[in-house]
Amino acid sequence: MASLTTLSKEDLEDLHSSLWNIYKQEQTKDLHLNMSRGKPSAEQLDLSVELLQFPKSYTLADGTDARNYGVLQGIGECRRLFGDLLDIPAGQIIMGGNASLNLMFDTLAFLFLFGTERKKPWADERAQGRPVKFLCPVPGYDRHFTICEELGVEMIPVPLLSDGPDMDLVTRLVKEDEQIKGIWCVPLHSNPQGVCYSDKTVDTLASMTTAADDFRIFWDNAYGVHHIYEEVPLKNILKACEKAGYPNRCYYFFSTSKITFPGAGVSLIASSPDNVKELLGHMSAQTISHDKLNQLRHVQFFGTSENIHNHMTKLAALLKPKFDIVLQKLQDGLGASPPVASWSHPKGGYFVSLNVFPGCAKRTVALAKEAGVTLTGAGASYPYGKDPKDSNIRIAPSYPSVGELSQAMDILILCVKLAYIENKLG
Ligand code: PLP
Repeated sequence: MASLTTLSKEDLEDLHSSLWNIYKQEQTKDLHLNMSRGKPSAEQLDLSVELLQFPKSYTLADGTDARNYGVLQGIGECRRLFGDLLDIPAGQIIMGGNASLNLMFDTLAFLFLFGTERKKPWADERAQGRPVKFLCPVPGYDRHFTICEELGVEMIPVPLLSDGPDMDLVTRLVKEDEQIKGIWCVPLHSNPQGVCYSDKTVDTLASMTTAADDFRIFWDNAYGVHHIYEEVPLKNILKACEKAGYPNRCYYFFSTSKITFPGAGVSLIASSPDNVKELLGHMSAQTISHDKLNQLRHVQFFGTSENIHNHMTKLAALLKPKFDIVLQKLQDGLGASPPVASWSHPKGGYFVSLNVFPGCAKRTVALAKEAGVTLTGAGASYPYGKDPKDSNIRIAPSYPSVGELSQAMDILILCVKLAYIENKLG
C-alpha cells in the first residue's frame, strides 16, 4: 500500500469511506479479542504444570522441615538456584511471596516509614514540604507508576532511549535535585518497548553523583531471562554499585511470574548485605516466613539454573510465532507510512510498543474496542496515565492464539489508519 502521508484530501476521504465499510463489517462479527495484558497463554502455563507435583520431599539440606514456620530469608536451596541464575550471592537474596510487585511496594513503603541507613523516613521529608520524587523512564510499566501514585511519589518522566534511560538527563537531574530519591528501571526487554540497558548505562546509574544521599535504583529485572529473538547480556548492577562505592544504591527484583505461574510463582529482592539486613528487620514484623513449599517446589522442578534457561527456550518457541505475526502485520500494514506509525523490534520480553501518529492513540484504542479488540488503555505506559503525545499503544501478543492475534492485528491496523485519516481531515 502507498504511503498514507502522500494522499490528497480527496484521496484520504475516499480511503476513509472504504476503510470505514470494512470496519463496520468487522463490528458485526461480535469479536472478543484481547491484546491488553501480558499474560502467558495456556500453552505456556502447560509447560510448568508438572511443577504442581512438587515438592516430593520436605526436608531441606540443613534438616529444616519446609512444612513448618521459619526461614524468613527464604530457603538456601532456592536462593542458591536464583543466585546462580542471576549471578548474585545467595546471602544477598531474600525470597518473597508470590509476586515481585509486593516486594517493590513494600520496599518503597519501608523507605517512607523508616528511611534507610538511619536517615530520615521519606514520609517525614514529604510532611515538611519536601516531596519525594522518582525518575520514570517512559514509556514504562503502569504498575510502577501506580505504586508511586499510591504512596504519593512525584513522578518525573525521562525518555527511554535504545540503550536505557536518557542518561544525560538522568545524571543532570539527580545531581541537581536532592528530592529525586530513585529511579524505576526494567533493564532487559523493558515493558513495553523491549529496551535492553547497555553496560555504559548500568555503570553510569551505579556511579553517578546524586544530590540525595539515600538515592535508590528500583531494578525490576522481570524479563531477565526472557529472550526470544536474541540472548542479550546484562551487566551486574549490584557489582557495579559496589565497585562504584555505592553498595546500597540498588534494590534488585525478580520473579518467576513469566517463567512458571503468574501470581503463583516465587519472587525475590536482592541487595547489599546491609540493605538485606535492614529489609529483613522490617519483614520480620510483617511475616514469620514466606511460602517455603513453593520455593522448594521451584527448586525441585528446575534443579539447576541451566534448566531454567532450557525452560525459557521452550517458552520462547511458543512466543516467537506470535511476535512474528505482530511485527509482520505491522510491517505489511503500516510499513509504507513511517510518520503514521512506528514500533519497537524487541529481542525478547512480552510486548511490542506501537507509536501511532501524535494525537491518535486514544482514538485508535477506542475504535479497536468498538470492533471487539481490547488493548491496554492509551496513556497507561506514562505516569498519571498521561502520554503527552497521545501516541503510545502497548501490544501484548502472548495470550491470544495465533489465529486470534492475526485477526486482532488486522483490526488494530485498520483502526490506526482510520484514526490517522480522521486526524488529518480534522
Ligand atoms: N515488572 C514488570 C516490568 C512487569 O511487566 C510485570 C508484569 O507484567 C511485573 C513486574 C509483575 O511481576 P510480579 O508478577 O512478580 O509481581
